[in-house]
Amino acid sequence: MGDMMDKKRDILDMEPDELAEALKALGYPSFRAKQVYKWLYSGCLDFSSMTNLPKDMRVKLSEEFTAGGLRIANKLVSKVDGTRKYLLELHDGNIIESVLMKYHYGYSACLSTQVGCHMGCAFCASASLGFVRNLTVGELVAQVLSIMNDIGDRIGHLVLMGIGEPFDNYDNVMRFLRRVNREDTLNISYRKMTVSTCGIVPKILEFAREGIPVNLSVSLHAPDDEIRRRTMPVARRWSMDELLKACNEYTRITSRRITYEYSLIEDVNDSPEHARTLAEKLKGTLCHVNLIPVNTVEGIDFSKSSRERTEAFKKVLEKYGIAVTVRRELGSDIMAACGQLRRNTLMMEPKKV
Ligand code: SAH
Repeated sequence: MGDMMDKKRDILDMEPDELAEALKALGYPSFRAKQVYKWLYSGCLDFSSMTNLPKDMRVKLSEEFTAGGLRIANKLVSKVDGTRKYLLELHDGNIIESVLMKYHYGYSACLSTQVGCHMGCAFCASASLGFVRNLTVGELVAQVLSIMNDIGDRIGHLVLMGIGEPFDNYDNVMRFLRRVNREDTLNISYRKMTVSTCGIVPKILEFAREGIPVNLSVSLHAPDDEIRRRTMPVARRWSMDELLKACNEYTRITSRRITYEYSLIEDVNDSPEHARTLAEKLKGTLCHVNLIPVNTVEGIDFSKSSRERTEAFKKVLEKYGIAVTVRRELGSDIMAACGQLRRNTLMMEPKKV
């Protein structure tokens, strides 16, 4: 499929005014751009199905443009809780994955931001598979639209916690967040979006000044530099002091609470002493700690902390007045944890680059 597609522009990569311009240049009146937009953002990515457009226009659109270029290559639906996991194939044959979770407040999609990842966290299913490329804005948008189309329903919440480091693809991610917030696209409130970073300090400070009230999660996963450097290479670049200083600056500028993600790994970072060290650093700051019993990944030698140790860890943080929750596991029967389906797929097939 490659050659033809590569010459076409991805319509989802274009800002609304760019699209309006492009259609005008093709000789269409401006209301046609609005119609096309309406179709796309209701989840219809197939020009031939846009039934209120003249037939010749539909043909013209499919000659000129692609729409995301994504294909659902595999889909697993959890029998336990309805969580859906999608393996999506991009136009160049690369694959990413996305997860759809159903909560009492509606659907939430967990999106990938890159094909692979540079960050190399020791416990992560994507790290050893390496980095291939950033996702484009069009591909980010197409992830949401493909899932919406599949479920025939609206998605109200987005979390950028799939494969990749969002702040390593910063500009596209910011454009994406602004795009799906628009009233004439998906109208998703910024407050219902969350970006998760492993702790790229300058980008946290830049994000604080974006002026969009998107939630920020920071993956901490350790109480001190020594342990953090063992599991997260990014910690060698910025110390925990530097990271927490940037996080506090973020809360000062935005008045928004930060969520610290902390995956509990047995005998690595999950003792009451570790909890005390962490609590001393976080107490009194505007934050929330999300404890996640680490997901075991085939081929990686880590064990999940027991329920008892998780509870004991939580109690210590609570004693310091820190808001803390333990993340509920969804989709445990379908490898819903980050990157596992892609990892298993890639390990079975020759790697596509
Ligand atoms: N790169 C970003 C976002 C993607 S990862 C980040 O690091 O935040 C989303 C979250 O899943 C991060 O908190 C990450 O550390 C965590 N994670 C990765 N592998 C995990 C595993 N095996 N078990 C539990 N959490 C994991």
